[in-house]
Amino acid sequence: VYSLARVNDMVQKAIAAGRRVFEVLDETNDITNVPGAKAINNINGKIRLTDVTFAYDLGGGKNREVLSDVSIDIPAGKRVALCGPSGSGKSTLLGLIVRFYDPTKGAVTLDGKDLRSITLESLRPAFALVQQETFLFRQSVLENIRYGRPEATLDEVREAARAAAADEFILQLPKGYDTEVGERGVRLSGGQKQRISIARAFLSDPRVLLLDEPTSSVEPDSENAIIEAIDRLMTCRTTVLTSHRPSLVSRCDLVYVLENGKVLDSGPPELVRERNEWLDRFLRSGYELAAAN
Ligand code: ATP
Repeated sequence: VYSLARVNDMVQKAIAAGRRVFEVLDETNDITNVPGAKAINNINGKIRLTDVTFAYDLGGGKNREVLSDVSIDIPAGKRVALCGPSGSGKSTLLGLIVRFYDPTKGAVTLDGKDLRSITLESLRPAFALVQQETFLFRQSVLENIRYGRPEATLDEVREAARAAAADEFILQLPKGYDTEVGERGVRLSGGQKQRISIARAFLSDPRVLLLDEPTSSVEPDSENAIIEAIDRLMTCRTTVLTSHRPSLVSRCDLVYVLENGKVLDSGPPELVRERNEWLDRFLRSGYELAAAN
């Protein structure tokens, strides 16, 4: 009787867990291939947003407009920074560029083609996204980096890790590249996780690189090494970044200043800085100012 009671308890827990798992499995993706979408090859990396308005669907018929009539030109192979106070719409804009969602109005194009006319299978591999929080799977460091290109050899993974200034600390872990990380594995610092995510991006060798606050969870002592690694990663590809670090923004060819979902100004950082007080203060005082806003 005691055992039966315990079995019943286990079954009830399994039913509850199963419901949650199926809820996730049954989730549908709003972003799908539209009829007639074509694969894109030989991507150059020129991105343009034309009069883009975007509103988040809050459910119950309500929505919230966070970008209004935004037009942005991102030339192929150039580095473009999106700057502006917290909540101005920078991350939302990156999400539109990689087509995590579609604009409510206007269009986003890659090499002149509307993203909606390109198959997701050919579009997504062209991008790598490095975010402020790096998600690590409960697997070895090797597998976590290889996620950037599953068929990569150990030598290729190590080369990517070296470029990301990660090889040295990985070799010092208890089992080197075979050390398990994530929830129950070795705990890595914010800077170490970030270097793993940069190594992933190196390995996937994307045409377009999107960086969303890539140094925000990094300790001051590893920041310079990470900025140098990001600089190497940005070479020879289109890069769009948001950053509270003036040192990263001033390495960009163009800057767009956003406020409340609108573009206030744009141009080379040094020129825009002369006429835009916010950018001038930002480039002078940096992180604290942007975070305080
Ligand atoms: P930060 O510098 O703090 O990252 P940001 O400039 O990147 O800010 P976004 O994250 O794009 O700004 O957010 C723009 C606005 O959209 C904010 O007001 C935010 O609260 C809102 N927002 C962001 N994500 C969602 C969502 N999934 N649903 C509803 N509103 C959202």
